[in-house]
Amino acid sequence: SQRRVMLRSLSKCLRTNPVGVQRNMSQSSLAGKVAIVTASTDGIGLAAAQALGKRGAHVVVSSRKQTNVDKAVALLQGQNIQVTGTTCNVGEGKEREKLVQMTLEKCGGIDILVSNAAVNPFFGNIMDSTEDVWDKILSVNVKSSFLMTKLVVPHMEKRGGGNVVFVSSVAGYQPMQALGPYSVSKTALLGLTRALAPDLAQSNIRVNCVAPGVIKTRFSSALWQNEDIMDEFKKQLSIKRIGEPEEIGGVIAFLCSDEASYITGETITVTGGINCRL
Ligand code: NAP
Repeated sequence: SQRRVMLRSLSKCLRTNPVGVQRNMSQSSLAGKVAIVTASTDGIGLAAAQALGKRGAHVVVSSRKQTNVDKAVALLQGQNIQVTGTTCNVGEGKEREKLVQMTLEKCGGIDILVSNAAVNPFFGNIMDSTEDVWDKILSVNVKSSFLMTKLVVPHMEKRGGGNVVFVSSVAGYQPMQALGPYSVSKTALLGLTRALAPDLAQSNIRVNCVAPGVIKTRFSSALWQNEDIMDEFKKQLSIKRIGEPEEIGGVIAFLCSDEASYITGETITVTGGINCRL
């Protein structure tokens, strides 16, 4: 019968083309890759640099303050990670260019960009936020993420491809009270991820995003240092604790690895189960 013919040809095809493509551990290795992580001397950026470095990438760490850069470089070197550091305020065009030039000079190319820097100069009722607040937040959180990408893409193309990961927030899906403008900037990164993915796929560059929930860093300390706020907040969580920076770093490294080779234009929420989207 037709069915038997189909089954026979299917089983023949399976024998010649085993479905479970042999994946060995080396496919999750990032040896030989060069990774720029912005705002990477503390918190999630530092954890991302650590996760990429542990998988063999040469990581380039940066932030505004030289003392923070020196500390991060020493910490990563102590973990046998190949690391280079420089100052870079991502809000300044000249400093973004310096970061890229230094990376090319010291590491010979660029394969990975993790755009992690963000500011939040405003807490309060969104209707009280000023033009200066919006300029600052959109400039650092959104515009510089795009402009960093634009700077590195030609160099990724020279290597035959690459990976970009943006760091958004759960607040990008569900705006947080008192963090209106910041939340909107994080929503914009979800859009930026989608806007870039089809174009850059032609250059074999994947563009993805992570949206962390509340992670234990200095940035979120106002939240987790207040027990009342935390008790209330934990009601939204399935996993009843706040996250650690390493729990974001690992997901970022996964997105940059070959194991994620069919993922682009995607945002992974890493929130301990906050209900923010289907
Ligand atoms: P963090 O621990 O406070 O670290 C911030 C890092 O950014 C530091 O290394 C800081 O170093 C650097 N930095 C600040 N402004 C910068 C600028 N203009 N240019 C370059 N570097 C700058 O913060 P984090 O919590 O890891 O936050 C990192 C990212 O995760 C942000 O995009 C944030 O929106 C996002 N996020 C965080 C949480 C959370 O709960 N923590 C949740 C969702 C999303 P210098 O002071 O030396 O510049």
